[in-house]
Amino acid sequence: MSTDARSRELFERAQAVTPGGVNSPVRAFRSVGGTPRFMVSGNGPRITDVDGNSYVDLVGSWGPMILGHAHPAVLAAVSEAAAKGLSFGTPGPGEVLLGEEIVARVGPVEQVRLVSSGTEATMSAVRLARGFTGRPKIVKFAGCYHGHVDALLAAAGSGVATFALPDSPGVTAATTAEVIVLPYNDLDAVRAAFAAHPGEIAAIITEAAAANMGVVPPQPGFTAGLAEIAHGDGALLITDEVMTGFRVGPSGMFGHDGAVEGWQPDLMTFGKVIGGGLPVGAFGGRADIMAMLAPNGPVYQAGTLSGNPIATAAGLATLRHCTPAVYAHLDATAATVGDLVSAELATAGVPHRLQRAGNLFSIFFAEHPVTNYDQARGQSVAAFAAFFHAMLDAGVYLPPSAFEAWFVSAAHDEQALETIAAALPGAARAAAQALG
Ligand SMILES: *Cc1c(COP(=O)(O)O)cnc(C)c1O
Repeated sequence: MSTDARSRELFERAQAVTPGGVNSPVRAFRSVGGTPRFMVSGNGPRITDVDGNSYVDLVGSWGPMILGHAHPAVLAAVSEAAAKGLSFGTPGPGEVLLGEEIVARVGPVEQVRLVSSGTEATMSAVRLARGFTGRPKIVKFAGCYHGHVDALLAAAGSGVATFALPDSPGVTAATTAEVIVLPYNDLDAVRAAFAAHPGEIAAIITEAAAANMGVVPPQPGFTAGLAEIAHGDGALLITDEVMTGFRVGPSGMFGHDGAVEGWQPDLMTFGKVIGGGLPVGAFGGRADIMAMLAPNGPVYQAGTLSGNPIATAAGLATLRHCTPAVYAHLDATAATVGDLVSAELATAGVPHRLQRAGNLFSIFFAEHPVTNYDQARGQSVAAFAAFFHAMLDAGVYLPPSAFEAWFVSAAHDEQALETIAAALPGAARAAAQALG
């Protein structure tokens, strides 16, 4: 019988010194209830908590652990870099190599700047877009999460969706006044916004595939339409690939749509996978826009630990091991897990929608297809919570919120799939019960 005694004890101590006991809200289990598990180690597809319980991990640190936990080549790269010193505050070879790897993989990225988180990447990209165009306004989509940048916290997904916050106190009206929030997958709304504010919109920022309100892929032609509308008005398109970048394929979501449909974003943002589990983010794009950044241009942007040698070593080792075979494995594994979940829920009579964007997927406990945030919020959070806890008790760690994507890794093997398959019937019944 598994116990969570030591997680409970740590959670009490954590709550004494840290708001809610966590350093990022969704970790607190608030939307599923119960005590968050404090993890101490990971190996391949599994993570182990402080009480010694082992779980097949379908979170993967929210994406970075694409190769699985404690991958030997990544650990070796980190140890080798660490032995030489942790940070110099000077340029170094690792950041050149990582920059070259990103530029080589993603066509629209002619130049890239490294930062330390996805939030920093989107914040900087927005500043750069405003600096380049000389325009104030930004269009974003409800349910798209771009980190906790003040201006982008309006109707954001992820933790904001989990806690049903309209937006965050502390973000002033003046800040959000320059942000136009529109429904995802609605090109007419975008056209109307541009018609109402011609020459005022600096950029549209969108998740390349929305995956922070659960997975909501762009409908065919949606992102292409954004590029066309933005460019028609002299505005920029920023595709946020912090989650999808280097996960859904070697050149991210762009490789699935823009490269195929023949359009390009002007700026892109990255994070998660490119740090391999250490803090790295990046933004990049057209060379003429990137030329506006200091020290070449007047748009200021900086970071004490940007391009850190240990972090770039982890990111580079991770990217280099993301081979076509790895992506094929991720795609096949994601397809298998999604189908298994869907089949068991169907057997238990639980209404649900399995939605995918490449190898990212999530389940909505709802009967209707989900193409935007309002529809995403129409699902049964109670059914998800029951499902989540039954999976957890059976040794499968899912994202502790109905509004998050599920992540597989290169290390998810037959044994991991068996653990998931064995956990599913009970969890599907628990979800059915929760629906009454
Ligand atoms: C995770 C995420 C971010 C924020 O990245 P952090 O490293 O958590 O700051 C931004 N955009 C998207 C699409 C994300 O998924």
